[in-house]
Amino acid sequence: MTTFHEPSRDLPVIHEADVCVLGGSCTGLFAAVRAARLGARVVIVEKDNCFGGIATTAMVNVWHSLWNTSGDRQIIAGLTEEVIDRLDRRGALKRNEKTHPSVGFAFNSEELKIELDELAREARLKIYFHTQFAAPAPINENGRLAAVFVENKSGRGAIRARVFIDATGDADLAARLGCETYLANHLQPATACARFSGWDTLGDTAGRLGELLRTRGPAHHLPPTFAWGCRVPGAATYMLAATRVHGINPAQADDLTHGEIEGRRQVRAIMNILREAAPDSRLALEALPSRLGLRESRHIRSSYQLTGDDVLSGRPFEDTIAQGSYRVDVHHQDKPGITLRYLDGTEEYCAPGAYVRSRWRPETPTNPTFYQVPYRTLLPLNGPENVIVAGRMLDVDPIAHAAVRVMVNMNQTGEAAGVAAVLALETGQPLASLNPGLLRAKLIEGGSAL
Ligand SMILES: Cc1cc2nc3c(=O)[nH]c(=O)nc-3n(C[C@H](O)[C@H](O)[C@H](O)COP(=O)(O)OP(=O)(O)OC[C@H]3O[C@@H](n4cnc5c(N)ncnc54)[C@H](O)[C@@H]3O)c2cc1C
Repeated sequence: MTTFHEPSRDLPVIHEADVCVLGGSCTGLFAAVRAARLGARVVIVEKDNCFGGIATTAMVNVWHSLWNTSGDRQIIAGLTEEVIDRLDRRGALKRNEKTHPSVGFAFNSEELKIELDELAREARLKIYFHTQFAAPAPINENGRLAAVFVENKSGRGAIRARVFIDATGDADLAARLGCETYLANHLQPATACARFSGWDTLGDTAGRLGELLRTRGPAHHLPPTFAWGCRVPGAATYMLAATRVHGINPAQADDLTHGEIEGRRQVRAIMNILREAAPDSRLALEALPSRLGLRESRHIRSSYQLTGDDVLSGRPFEDTIAQGSYRVDVHHQDKPGITLRYLDGTEEYCAPGAYVRSRWRPETPTNPTFYQVPYRTLLPLNGPENVIVAGRMLDVDPIAHAAVRVMVNMNQTGEAAGVAAVLALETGQPLASLNPGLLRAKLIEGGSAL
């Protein structure tokens, strides 16, 4: 490869804080807010123009249940519940049954953007939007990261902090620090969502979307897919997630570029199929996401990989920092449709024109009703002692990832990272040496339902 030498230069320190969070989805923002509420000075860096990550920029507007599968124990609270209540007061949320395995809450992603701005403002965060994390500073002689370099319209600058939280979804900081990361053999496919007006004018055709995609999709060069969608609360639009972009590595720029264009092409192809089937409808494209929806990219290697077996058996951990009840939900790369695996031992395979219900294990007298995520899965092996990750890059096998990746779970990893950062500052200990009991107690004190 031909190379150019980039001359080295001194960069201005544009901000100094106790805690620096990279990535501003709810995961990153909740980390920042929890740290700030405990008195830390916090800066948060987001490459897009708003908070929320996939919930806003990729239009995914569904959060799952905050309860266990039997509905007799609330297992998630904290900032997720706080934001749900705030959106509800705005009329920007629809609540469903508390134990529904799929849809707990549908919300208006545009309202969420503003609500998250408010949350950040109240917590007095220093916010950098349109700012990309570019590289870490060299590790200092104490084995600590002292600064990161960011790039925005004003140029390149350094942010100094005492603890860094990588909430970039793709483990950008961990990877650039040289920490070990890995990609699953079959990454879950990416999806470009879209919002439509005139959905109701499709009449019965809307209900036949799966069948239409199966029969007419190939002529429109659509891969076999799985389609779901929901009305956007407080708006006259319908959010549809029905495209499927295979073979994308979200840590590769060329793949991302191809994925964005292919996702939008598929949205148009789906619209054409719907219009052919319902020529009198008034279906119109209202909005496309500002970025492709990514389900999976790099994972960090930590001292413990959470397994599908841990999740499906509800294994308890001494250092649990997050809990969930969302089913295992594998979006296949190698065949159409999805496989849903439940804690009660049942399994469903769903694809356009195909539905098979079976068991993945024999019946047992009792079943777990929720699963747990240990703190260890957020700590990069051999990473600097003041760096932690939060979000979908945690250390998980593919089956565990298929369950824990959803936002109500990832939001909790953010809250845990934020509280851990403050505890590390208060005790002077490396993040990996924190007392898990103390961390859990602090999380509960701040509103978590552990
Ligand atoms: C189509 C689709 C449907 C889904 N359906 C659901 C669902 O119904 N319910 C559900 O709960 N989950 C769903 N998921 C999964 C869920 O959305 C993700 O797993 C979750 O959002 C991951 O959160 P995260 O914070 O780890 O990553 P992200 O939401 O991707 O957030 C990462 C943030 O970091 C920022 N960032 C990245 N790199 C940099 C950088 N270098 N510098 C600065 N900022 C950076 C990004 O802009 C982004 O804001 C779905 C996902 C997809 C794609």
